[in-house]
Amino acid sequence: MQSYIDSLSLIDHHCHGVVTRPLDRPAFEALMSEGHKPVAGCTQFDKPLGAVLLRWCAPVLGLPPHAEPEDYVATRLKLAPDEVTRRLVGSTGVSNLLIDTGHRSDAILTPEGMTHATGLDAREVVRIEAIMEEVARLGPADGAALRKGFDARLEERAKGAVGLKSIVAYRTTFDIDQTPPGVAEVDRAGDAWLKALADGSSRRLEDPVLIRHALFRAGELCRTHRYPLQLHVGFGDADILMPKCDPTVFTPFIAQMEKWDVPITLLHCYPFLREAAFLAEVFANVYVDIGVIQNFTGPSAPRVLAEIMELTPFYKQLYSSDAFGLAELHFLGARVFRNALASVLHDWITRGEITVKKAESIARAIASENARRIYPV
Ligand SMILES: [Zn+2]
Repeated sequence: MQSYIDSLSLIDHHCHGVVTRPLDRPAFEALMSEGHKPVAGCTQFDKPLGAVLLRWCAPVLGLPPHAEPEDYVATRLKLAPDEVTRRLVGSTGVSNLLIDTGHRSDAILTPEGMTHATGLDAREVVRIEAIMEEVARLGPADGAALRKGFDARLEERAKGAVGLKSIVAYRTTFDIDQTPPGVAEVDRAGDAWLKALADGSSRRLEDPVLIRHALFRAGELCRTHRYPLQLHVGFGDADILMPKCDPTVFTPFIAQMEKWDVPITLLHCYPFLREAAFLAEVFANVYVDIGVIQNFTGPSAPRVLAEIMELTPFYKQLYSSDAFGLAELHFLGARVFRNALASVLHDWITRGEITVKKAESIARAIASENARRIYPV
């Protein structure tokens, strides 16, 4: 099963670009964490992600598996950053990178830059909150101008994209009114936010009315272009209120998108794996991945993958790395996923629950076929 899964090409339906500057130890470790707060005398290598990074990435840089962190970082620094990217991202066996460009996009490679550096097909997924913030920075006269500017810019950007994405869970939590707001209400909220931006009391979009407007506008565009709306769920940022990021709290919005035939792809889903699998089972339009948590759980990833596979229909699961910044996270995402999937399917075969043929078809579906069905790639 392992060699069959290793031979499959993957569609990474949610990832980010890599940084191209040389990284010293502190800079490298900062990118190994979702909420980097260094603890004196401790290292980011001393956690599950650090263990699998040294196990699997060290040989790609010419070191033995389980190299020491200082040797790893020193060897990496001696190589040109482009060479690091080419070796690590270029050997993932991924065919398509679907890249979220809305997070710290000035610090990382664009989709074109990723294609140039790796030879892989890289396409854009547009983050709707980032578009609203971009338009606000242009200094619209009032809330109505903000709304119109957002609608026009999102429509334009959606044309070249393969999907749209929202981080509503991080900005307001899922626990908000899930009906589309009226125009007057949106314009009033826009007036208030622009004033707060001007006096420095707000720096980013957190207003639920404006985000609801963005979500329904995004839903309409996804319906038109026949591609998914991605929703970040659970683990992935430090500044979230986790209990209110349970995706089942967002059921009314998901149900509305089901009526519009808009696929909703739930990203990461940790620790709400069973809640996400439940939504994938009961809604025709819901897809799930475990994304970033594969790398962060490292040696325990087979158990995490097994949990979401308890209930998720085989035609509803996707692969993503959610790699950001480090080329290592792209490489590991694929490696850890392949190992975990082989482990889960091997167990099912050994217990006589499925045939090898069935296991291979499940692996192909999750690796790329499901993504190819819902994304225009
Ligand atoms: Zn992400």
